[in-house]
Amino acid sequence: MKTRKLAISCPQCGSGAAFYSCTPNCCFNHVCADCGTTFEPMTTATGRTVSGVTPPDPLPEAGDPTAACAKCDSTAVYMTEDGSLVCEKCGALLVLELTEVCPG
Ligand SMILES: [Zn+2]
Ligand SMILES: [Zn+2]
Repeated sequence: MKTRKLAISCPQCGSGAAFYSCTPNCCFNHVCADCGTTFEPMTTATGRTVSGVTPPDPLPEAGDPTAACAKCDSTAVYMTEDGSLVCEKCGALLVLELTEVCPG
């Protein structure tokens, strides 16, 4: 299954210019470059899994949106072509939720 980099829209203004401002061993704080809103993405498992997940090429960079897998905590979480989330490590299909939304 082909994947692409995670894309997260700002929950406040809908901008796609959100970037990851921290590191996975700290927190998942993201900042919207357009309105300054901060938020943290989290995932919930749908209970379904897939196999043969191909990571995106090129791989995401440090500032690209990042979320952790609800099942195995891996940050190798990518988007499938139909826009759902999948973990490359364990193959879990995931649903994205945005928490800690703090308008800038
Ligand atoms: Zn925004
Ligand atoms: Zn996983």
